[in-house]
Amino acid sequence: MTTEQLPERIPFGMERDAEESPCPGCGVYYFDHHQPGCEYEECPVCGGQIVGCLCFDAPKPG
Ligand SMILES: [Zn+2]
Ligand SMILES: [Zn+2]
Repeated sequence: MTTEQLPERIPFGMERDAEESPCPGCGVYYFDHHQPGCEYEECPVCGGQIVGCLCFDAPKPG
């Protein structure tokens, strides 16, 4: 059994470069999670756009 877990996603408003509420990308308010595919969501792994990175999407071998 694997205990590896992905880090928690960053709610809107907690990014280093947060936009004003509501999110211009998906319309959520502060401290809600962005909708899937929102380009304003920050990746907690690499700090980049979550839609532009593979941290959450890449299937891990094995
Ligand atoms: Zn958003
Ligand atoms: Zn990432």
